[in-house]
Amino acid sequence: MNRHQPVFEATDTPATGAGCAAVPFAASEAFAPTPAAARARLAAVRAGDYARSRNHLDGAVTRLSPYLTHGLLDLAEVVASLRKRHHLPLTHKLVQELGWRAYFQHSWRHRGAAIFDDLHPGPLPAAAYARELPADLRRGATGVPVIDQAVRTLYASGYLHNHARMWLASYTVHVRKVHWRAGADWMFAHLLDGDLASNHLSWQWVAGTGSAKPYLFNAENVARYAPPAWHSPGTVIDTTYAVLDALAHSPQRRGAEPGAHPAVDEPPLFAAPPAEGFTAPDAATVAGRTVWLVHPWALADPPAGTLPVAVLDTRWHARWPWSAQRWAFVGARMHAIASLRWMAPAPELVAALRPAAQVRGWYNPHLDDPAWAALRLPLPPSAFADPDRACRSFSAYWTHVLKHAPPGALPQGVLSND
Ligand SMILES: Cc1cc2nc3c(=O)[nH]c(=O)nc-3n(C[C@H](O)[C@H](O)[C@H](O)COP(=O)(O)OP(=O)(O)OC[C@H]3O[C@@H](n4cnc5c(N)ncnc54)[C@H](O)[C@@H]3O)c2cc1C
Repeated sequence: MNRHQPVFEATDTPATGAGCAAVPFAASEAFAPTPAAARARLAAVRAGDYARSRNHLDGAVTRLSPYLTHGLLDLAEVVASLRKRHHLPLTHKLVQELGWRAYFQHSWRHRGAAIFDDLHPGPLPAAAYARELPADLRRGATGVPVIDQAVRTLYASGYLHNHARMWLASYTVHVRKVHWRAGADWMFAHLLDGDLASNHLSWQWVAGTGSAKPYLFNAENVARYAPPAWHSPGTVIDTTYAVLDALAHSPQRRGAEPGAHPAVDEPPLFAAPPAEGFTAPDAATVAGRTVWLVHPWALADPPAGTLPVAVLDTRWHARWPWSAQRWAFVGARMHAIASLRWMAPAPELVAALRPAAQVRGWYNPHLDDPAWAALRLPLPPSAFADPDRACRSFSAYWTHVLKHAPPGALPQGVLSND
């Protein structure tokens, strides 16, 4: 890849090892960082097939997540558009899954940085889990085909089907005894849609530190929902749920198994874009102008009449480095919409914006440096009737949403407020 060219071409070389089936998706084709690609993806949604097939790796999932995470699509608009076009009630499975995203954001708003620690005890004391991923897992060479395929797909495409994320997280925590936080940080870094709320809270849900019980899966489950190359007969997961539950509650750690695929290299991570095109902030260029703030979670078209300024908070990215693919997605889009592109610690970015007549844009909780507060950016409108009080479970959250549903949003027989 030409590191100086802001184009979306980082994933033409899938990280498959010899002897492995090809990965199902190639990111360069699957996720172009443009509003047109996002709209095309939305138009292609097969809502009618979603509920029936969504657990299958080749099911009618939407692959909207990179566009939602980066603000190329707005959650409220997506929900409204899907409901209108497909006549979906709020109770439809696809709307409910989008509700999970909103719920995780709700949890992050109310719990703050607490989401990065165990929300409550899991099946074992936290000290029973390693804080590092074993090399064979990182390199897709565990000998459990479903895991090795998932790791390859993640590295090659930056996207994983929800079921594959659950399998990978469950194996990491409950079989290999790695603390969910180490797994979550690792997966986040390689996902194109990496979102700290959806990712870290989903890992907690699988680990059993954010849910009533650990999520477990066996070889039969994989055989039902994944293609043959993923099937894992004769491996540690080829057993009953009772045995897996006992393993999850035992400190006994299992290792790599014979017959592993050749290892793949983990793609490198970057704390700054691995391409040129970002400069130090320059207050003089924005003096007196109405600035539209473009940041990695707000990559939609800027409104007419504003001066788009793209910003990267170097301190944030040093804490949360990303893959080249994710940088390609974000960097290419920033180049397309903003001729001013600044990179600095958040306080310096905010200080340089001070001479602007006005700074507009959307707040996102990934902008976690206290300096951002001075800009007073609003949150995008809620997709659902978000409760003011913190809900400790999705079902409490969703009950509130349904209870406050607008007229006509529920099928007959489902109780709402009226
Ligand atoms: C361990 C683990 C890590 C995850 N990390 C992330 C992450 O970093 N970023 C992220 O956006 N999602 C994450 N998810 C949630 C979910 O897997 C993805 O949103 C989904 O797979 C994205 O693919 P899709 O757009 O095709 O989903 P679809 O099935 O088509 O769903 C449509 C949309 O609904 C939302 N959604 C669906 N399922 C979930 C869910 N379980 N939780 C939250 N929102 C959901 C997403 O916005 C998704 O784009 C994670 C799940 C697990 C189990």
